[in-house]
Amino acid sequence: MAGKKKKGPRQAFGLKCTVCDTFNYITERNKLNTTEKLKLHKYCKKCRKATEHKESSKLK
Ligand SMILES: [Zn+2]
Repeated sequence: MAGKKKKGPRQAFGLKCTVCDTFNYITERNKLNTTEKLKLHKYCKKCRKATEHKESSKLK
């Protein structure tokens, strides 16, 4: 049942700086394992410091 590796329910999403609204990272997650919104402390090149980033499904 759970032994096959096929295309999983992974979904790409962007990480956006909550300070300046800039997309800084694109990553992916497993929708089944991760249900809550992510919030990560990451470096923002526009703010030039580590800020809080949150996920946004808007991808180009
Ligand atoms: Zn920023």
